Amino acid sequence: MVSLASSPTTGTRRPAAAVSADATSISRTAMPTNPSPQLPVLETQASASSAPRREGIPAPVELDEAGRAELAQHSERLETASPLEIIRWAAETYGDGLCMATAFGPEGCVILHFLAQVRPETYVFNLDTGYQFQETLDTRDRIAEKYGIEVELRRPELSVADYEAANGGPVYKTDPNRCCFDRKIRVLHQSVVGHTAWMSGIRRDQSEHRAGAPVVGWDKKFGLVKISPLANWTKKDVWALIVKEDIPYIPLHDQGYTSIGCWPCTVANTFSDDERAGRWSGTGKTECGLHTAD
Ligand code: SF4
Repeated sequence: MVSLASSPTTGTRRPAAAVSADATSISRTAMPTNPSPQLPVLETQASASSAPRREGIPAPVELDEAGRAELAQHSERLETASPLEIIRWAAETYGDGLCMATAFGPEGCVILHFLAQVRPETYVFNLDTGYQFQETLDTRDRIAEKYGIEVELRRPELSVADYEAANGGPVYKTDPNRCCFDRKIRVLHQSVVGHTAWMSGIRRDQSEHRAGAPVVGWDKKFGLVKISPLANWTKKDVWALIVKEDIPYIPLHDQGYTSIGCWPCTVANTFSDDERAGRWSGTGKTECGLHTAD
């Protein structure tokens, strides 16, 4: 299988960002044309957040009141919709503006299964930190074979060797938050340029932090509408569909790994009901930052 990896610094697939970190009023007129009259109002105001900004990272973007109200209406209406219906709505509403990030977790693979039926040309990418399990990368190829969806591997500017050399060793050992920021968050910001909405595989029953996730909401960190088609699904729902439809998944799940990220920060989890307990085990860290507000 040919790798579709591309450097975020050299890739030319997406247009330049329409969101300026320093703009006080941000127009989305440069975004892809939305085919649906249901497009939420996307006039936004730069966030008043006082959180420290990192070089090259846009400031958080607040959605105005009308936009927030419109997204809340969509979310409420879709609360009882099936994942396929939610994904279809997202594809029809945002068109080329829709994208998806996946780490090939069971939820992501289920969304890809549905997306293949609705809009397989949707831009889907994986944050390839350089620390992923080979089994994860192999799953990308199995998804491509089954569904024809070629998930693009998006990599940080520095290779693992150069990053560790520049920092005196593995940063995941000394400052995992910074490592996640450099090798995931920064790359996600680069990957979503030119898009208006992204889909995530989060479920409300995964953790306390995710319990309040709306089906459709505003992600101010990335300045995107965020759609969570599986918000109302359970772990059992996800695995039942995987078995029924023979959806590819990372085989490490059969060895006790309940949640899989980078290999240095993931262990098998056979003694806890918390399915994310095997991530950053013993550090107190529970999220990489993709799904947190700040
Ligand atoms: S999960 Fe671990 S190795 Fe991966 S980016 Fe975060 S800290 Fe680094």
